[in-house]
Amino acid sequence: MKIIDLINSNEKTAFSFEILPPLKGTGIEKLYTTIDTLKEFDPKYINITTHRSEYIYKDLGEGLYKRDRQRRRPGTVAVAAAIQNKYNIKTVPHILCSGFTREETEYVLIDLQFLGVTDLLVLRGDKAKHESVFTPEGDGYYHAIQLQEQINNFNKGIFVDGTSMQNMEQPFSYGVACYPEKHEESPNIEDDIYWLKKKVEAGAEYAVTQLFYDNKKYFDFVDRARQAGITVPIIPGIKPFKKLSQLTMIPKTFKVDLPEDLTKEILKCKNDNEAQQVGIEWCIAQCKELIEYGVPSLHFYTISAVDSIREVAQKIY
Ligand code: FAD
Repeated sequence: MKIIDLINSNEKTAFSFEILPPLKGTGIEKLYTTIDTLKEFDPKYINITTHRSEYIYKDLGEGLYKRDRQRRRPGTVAVAAAIQNKYNIKTVPHILCSGFTREETEYVLIDLQFLGVTDLLVLRGDKAKHESVFTPEGDGYYHAIQLQEQINNFNKGIFVDGTSMQNMEQPFSYGVACYPEKHEESPNIEDDIYWLKKKVEAGAEYAVTQLFYDNKKYFDFVDRARQAGITVPIIPGIKPFKKLSQLTMIPKTFKVDLPEDLTKEILKCKNDNEAQQVGIEWCIAQCKELIEYGVPSLHFYTISAVDSIREVAQKIY
């Protein structure tokens, strides 16, 4: 069953979450612990992020440096397949423009087909740390919608060099990203929604939002998207606030506002434990309101928030 069918066939609000592949050199056991901690809430699917290679400079001495491409978190495809096999839960690897040529993407798609992983989240991906504007890798793409076209062609059996494959197994289905507080590069929310609509017209079956802490921003975004004719599910992305340093880190990293009421409560906290409790309470209230509004699914970002998510899920599922 495709993700969209899993979401639509669920009688109550579906539960899903996102994990990151392990750092290069570390094992997969920590991910299994995350899944073991959250599996009692019946996750319908688990997303696995992808991270582009970054250039690193190795000091060869005598003023010489070697430029090398390294992926700090490799293994998305293998992690997706391993989890699907071990837990029999659908996995959704993220597939990026960023850091991948068209042929590299094609090889990823071929691997995923062989492994029976056919649901994707299609994204442009973050820019490289040293870049001020996004630059594709070689003949790679500038925008998620172009990557969608490659996947659509793959689904029709057409490779990037124009040749065709003999046996197409199960076609890929996919979702895309969206931003209730607009994408940082977008001139305004209308423009962002215009491109979201294009991504849906190009084949995205649902959209998952950037994290947010103010439900009003999500409700307004959904209203605008519906007015623009976007009818697919818009799945809220949720992450409980965890520690005091996130007061500045979250707005800076994710380009989202923290609501005044939440900020006021966090500022009263003397330490991270107190801040985590405030974050959990806020998140429970946020999720309850979203469920009441009728969201089809809640999608949790687990990085350094697994224990908080467990507490939240115990209260709402
Ligand atoms: P796009 O859809 O390409 O949009 C980027 C900007 O360009 C937007 O402002 C949009 O309005 C505009 N735009 C879109 N299409 C066009 C066009 N054809 N012409 C002109 N403008 C256009 N990053 C990672 O590196 N790895 C991950 O695993 C990852 N997972 C994520 C999961 C979710 C749910 C979300 C919300 C984000 C994730 N990101 C991830 C971050 C994401 O890759 C970045 O936010 C990236 O900058 C934009 O990705 P996108 O797919 O929304 O890009």
